[in-house]
Amino acid sequence: MDRGHLHEILETILSVPTAPFHEYHIRDVIIRLLDPCSSVKVDEDEFGNLVVRHGDCDGSPGWIFGSHMDHPGFVEVPVESGYHPETFKVRDRFAFLGGVPESYLRQGFPIKEFDQFAMWDLPAFELRGTQIWSRACDDLIGCAVIVALLIALDRSGIELSCSAVFTRAEEVGFVGAIKLAQSWPFKPDACFVSIETSVAVDRAMMGGGPMCRVGDRISTFDHATTASMLAVAQRRSLKIQRALLDRGACEASGLQAYGIRTAGISVPLGNYHNCGEQNLISPEFVELGDIEGLFDLMAAILEEFPKGPGDCSAALRQRFELGLDTHLPFIEDTAGMFHCE
Ligand SMILES: [Zn+2]
Repeated sequence: MDRGHLHEILETILSVPTAPFHEYHIRDVIIRLLDPCSSVKVDEDEFGNLVVRHGDCDGSPGWIFGSHMDHPGFVEVPVESGYHPETFKVRDRFAFLGGVPESYLRQGFPIKEFDQFAMWDLPAFELRGTQIWSRACDDLIGCAVIVALLIALDRSGIELSCSAVFTRAEEVGFVGAIKLAQSWPFKPDACFVSIETSVAVDRAMMGGGPMCRVGDRISTFDHATTASMLAVAQRRSLKIQRALLDRGACEASGLQAYGIRTAGISVPLGNYHNCGEQNLISPEFVELGDIEGLFDLMAAILEEFPKGPGDCSAALRQRFELGLDTHLPFIEDTAGMFHCE
């Protein structure tokens, strides 16, 4: 599938400011970008998560791609909340929400205000060689790739059904994802695939392609879904890295706690949550090639398994039984010792 306007969409979405609970600017841009797509239907649930359906899927697609619209940042604290942030988390009228170590917050790095919230005063989008540097790759990269895929699907005219969700307030404990799970708008066996940016661990590395996330710090994910995604990459000779990304947790864990099938794919991320070298607040960064690889992988998943995750166990059984056959002479040779002649 043609990647279409992926690069422009990345720049458009990453340029929009956001913070936990203040995702309305991102939401508006996603709605605007998807507006011309006649095959795409955009709804908002009662919490403000966006629920997007593509194609004629009677509300029951097998694949639900999900990303979150927020990023750690400073927000105004409602008086009624009774919230008393530690002093190092307070800046003027704002308090910091999201997982960033105290040593970074104490540096007093400058911030940029957007009415009711503020972000680190860092570039919104910069192309440096083969990399994108931004104040908020996590998870606006995920949002951009999903939007680009929906637009590409619409333009291609290909009849594939899938859905997407863009959630709120992930950075404070999957608040949007939990609201979504509590009134799950899809069929029970539909699979939610968290599209994220994450620190590369184990043998995974930046530039090595998207990472098939077998689990996170909290959970391991659905085997059939993970196996389907890996099988697609192998069939199409797409770059993929298989890893347990346990340096963080993602919405797949939140939804799985409600019995929803989940999996994850992540783009390797540098300067996670703006924590750069030498204790300095810095832009996050990703490799453009890994983002393109993610787009290609998601498109291929829909093409190869249009009805949802497949059953890859038959192929696995065949492989194991072939191995068993090659050892038949050894089995026969020792059968007498086991009374099974
Ligand atoms: Zn994050």
